[in-house]
Amino acid sequence: MAKFKWAADFFGSLKFRLTVCFVLLGIIPGTLIQAGMLNSYEKRAVSIRTSEILSQAKILANQIVSNDYINDVDAATINAQLEQLSAIYDGRVMIIDESFHIVRDTYDLDAGKTIISEEVINSFYGNEITKYDSENRYIELTVPLFEKAAGETETRRTLGVMMVSVSTDSINLNLEYLARSTRVMGMVLSFAVIFIAYLLGNLLVRPFHAMSKSIEEIQTGYGEDLLSIDSYTETALICEKFNGMLGRMKVLDDSRQEFVSNVSHELKTPLTSMKVLADSINSMEDAPIELYKEFMADIGNEVDRETKIINDLLSLVRMDKSAADLNIANLNINELLEQILKRLNPIAERQHVELVLESFRPVTADVDEVKITLAFTNLIENAIKYNREDGWVHVSLNADHQYFYLKVEDSGIGIPQDSIEHIYERFYRVDKSHSREIGGTGLGLAITRSAILMHRGAIKVFSTEGEGTIFNVRIPLNYIS
Ligand code: ADP
Repeated sequence: MAKFKWAADFFGSLKFRLTVCFVLLGIIPGTLIQAGMLNSYEKRAVSIRTSEILSQAKILANQIVSNDYINDVDAATINAQLEQLSAIYDGRVMIIDESFHIVRDTYDLDAGKTIISEEVINSFYGNEITKYDSENRYIELTVPLFEKAAGETETRRTLGVMMVSVSTDSINLNLEYLARSTRVMGMVLSFAVIFIAYLLGNLLVRPFHAMSKSIEEIQTGYGEDLLSIDSYTETALICEKFNGMLGRMKVLDDSRQEFVSNVSHELKTPLTSMKVLADSINSMEDAPIELYKEFMADIGNEVDRETKIINDLLSLVRMDKSAADLNIANLNINELLEQILKRLNPIAERQHVELVLESFRPVTADVDEVKITLAFTNLIENAIKYNREDGWVHVSLNADHQYFYLKVEDSGIGIPQDSIEHIYERFYRVDKSHSREIGGTGLGLAITRSAILMHRGAIKVFSTEGEGTIFNVRIPLNYIS
């Protein structure tokens, strides 16, 4: 198959198609014009020849009648003229009398015979008939021989018919010569057209070659960073889209790098602490067992922290996957929230925070239990964690015919206005040391937001520093895949 790849490439190329189009555009009209020209030359030549012979024949017809030639075919002057007419036009003249007898035939073949043809009969009715037979190459015309009229109004009798048939060989010879020379000209022109078409095809696809070369350069890292081929509106448009895509890839690459460096940093922090703790205990001689225990407890805490970060990262990676990974089921959201609150109650009690759930109506919705539980837990846990002593957290659930609404309201420390737009970013924390103290990783809200968006929902936050925060979540009751 690879053997024929070049052929597929060549015949499938724009260059080949353009060349073929130009060749067809050049050659088809040329051939048609050539055929048309030959045809009209033939028509014109035949019509000139016909009218020439017709006028000669009419003059002769008058003389024939004047000299009463039909009854006296030996009249020398008329015979001479008849011979002359047939000689000039390479033809045959026959004079036919009223009883359809051929009284004179310049070929001397059919004199005395009877001729009854459509044309002859028509001419006896007073009509001049002309006919061109292109296959047998002759023009035939029949002219009535009218009796001389005595007065203007008197109808004239037809005494006979003169039939002239002339060969059109000379016209055909000319036609053949003309056809031959136009064929040669056509061939020369065809070669020129093919050559020009090939050049044009090459020229027109050049911007596309330039484009693929530029893309290759961008790919290898040499040359310009942006694609710019403005030869055609189309290439400019493709370049614009391509540059847009490059920009997006760059943003993605930057954010990936930032994420990797953040992850490394976050994972390194507990390890550094552990190393410091281990080194300091090792450097102490005769350290008391209590100190060992204390340091080992600290190291244990750091291990827990590292585990939490890794777990959160895994959750986040799972959220980043496609919506096809959602495990949708129709769940009772009231029960789901009750369970979450039950699990979080001990933490709330430890912080002396009052945790209240208010359900306005029973709600069932299509959700992924694991992901939505994680999202709601993060929100409620944050509301408890970033609260004040003896504060409160109100969780309320409501619904309409399309969505269910979760509101998590707290009396906590609030979020500064300039931090609000960053809180969903990975590893973002308003107060790093505070968040670290209470076991935050900075990934919770990023996970929450991804989970809600996967359910085609929305999340909004309102917060006043020192007063509290409200998170409003809206999720469709029926999952739209
Ligand atoms: P963390 O693991 O640090 O809690 P999150 O992504 O859950 O990370 O939250 C990001 C930051 O947003 C937190 O560090 C905190 O500063 C702020 N934040 C989140 N929820 C609240 C809240 N209910 N009240 C005040 N601050 C909050």
